[in-house]
Amino acid sequence: MGFRGFTRLPAIARPTRRISRLVTETRLLRSTHGIINRPFFYTFTQIQNDFLMPQFNIKDRFFTYVKYHTTSDPTAPADKYPSTDRQKKLGQHLVDELQQLGVKDAEIDEHGVVYATIPSNSTKNVPTLCFCSHMDTSPDSSGKDVKPIVHKNYNGGNITLPDDPSQQLTPNLHPALKEKKGEDIITASGTTLLGADDKSGIAVIMALAEYLQAHPEVPHGNIRILFTCDEEIGRGVNRVDMEKLSADIGYTLDGSDLGVIEDETFSADSVTVHLKGVVEHPGYAYGKLVSALKAASAFVNAWPKDQLSPETTKGKEGFVHPVSMEGTVEKATIQYIIRDFYTEGLDDKFAMFQRIAQQIHEEFPGLGIEIDREEQYRNMKYVIQDYPEAVEHALEAMKRAGIEARKERVRGGTDGSRLSYMGLPCPNLFTGQHAIHGKQEWISLQDMEKSVQTLLELIQIFEEKT
Ligand SMILES: [Zn+2]
Repeated sequence: MGFRGFTRLPAIARPTRRISRLVTETRLLRSTHGIINRPFFYTFTQIQNDFLMPQFNIKDRFFTYVKYHTTSDPTAPADKYPSTDRQKKLGQHLVDELQQLGVKDAEIDEHGVVYATIPSNSTKNVPTLCFCSHMDTSPDSSGKDVKPIVHKNYNGGNITLPDDPSQQLTPNLHPALKEKKGEDIITASGTTLLGADDKSGIAVIMALAEYLQAHPEVPHGNIRILFTCDEEIGRGVNRVDMEKLSADIGYTLDGSDLGVIEDETFSADSVTVHLKGVVEHPGYAYGKLVSALKAASAFVNAWPKDQLSPETTKGKEGFVHPVSMEGTVEKATIQYIIRDFYTEGLDDKFAMFQRIAQQIHEEFPGLGIEIDREEQYRNMKYVIQDYPEAVEHALEAMKRAGIEARKERVRGGTDGSRLSYMGLPCPNLFTGQHAIHGKQEWISLQDMEKSVQTLLELIQIFEEKT
């Protein structure tokens, strides 16, 4: 990072205020110590960072949002969106806050989806960016009565959560903590999740909105804000109106490690194997009975043990994974999920299903086998590769924000993978959330601030490069 970043920054009043604070604190030193034994109270880097880093009002917002109980419910009927009405309360609150900030068109629709616009102030035809987060939290842990706690100036040791002291965050269990010494770590109190997934994303977007309302001199194109429900149960974008959203490039703010942008997800299908046996009275079944149950078991066992499973693959490898099996002698069903970063890789895996089906059919003469394959989602990379600026500008934005940036791939799916195929190329940006869905979930306040700074740089880069 150099001073180029400083000159690029909007003409914020901040530096002047900072200088006066510097002067005040230097005077304070002089008065308490008589003489200044440290002529530069602030080091050069500190001054530089203070100039570069505007202050964002993010902690209080985050605390407010995590206190809303917004757990989604996978057992709700598939057509009920949101799955829990309580999610709409947070949505309404966010609309009210946006209105107060002066974001006039903020609205929540009948499904609980929140839309808002920060209008362009550029004379150029800048692409419309969309920043997106989800309001629900995972049903894996309670999200009711969340009590957020700041562990200020983290000392690098263990963090014990007060409402259940058996919940200890240790740097061994959470290696990312090792890099957060001196930062302010936020956790829940031990009996609930925190909800940094994904209320950190909401807080980041709201802090950006507040900053831009107060700093109209920052040049940018149209910015669309989108808050969805039910992401944790895989229904996040089911009711998003893409025409209404009308954005060119999107970013979900739902990533973990500082500096990471994810532009690649799995391609995913589900495969169902139906087996039909032949039932006879077991006492008189000689040469006639065909057990669907035994065939199902043989089918599952026919796959190699040392490869192709979630437990034997990592990095860029895909897998085949039986997730449920049920049956009787008469019929059995096996549910699989298959994953690969390449859609052709899914085809190869499906071809293996067909070969194994043939083999099992030979082993169990008279058995009926049918295999269904259903598309779940596709690697967003196939879409995003046609919009290289979506990733390049984000990497540049992190660089300008003084962050070491890197690209990663998600061994799973995101709202962004579906949004990408709905017409909005949509990589995922870090917010700093860690250990999500559990009671030890945590986030660094400084990582959240850097996430806002990244967005602030990003919107200016798009304006600059149009
Ligand atoms: Zn999330």
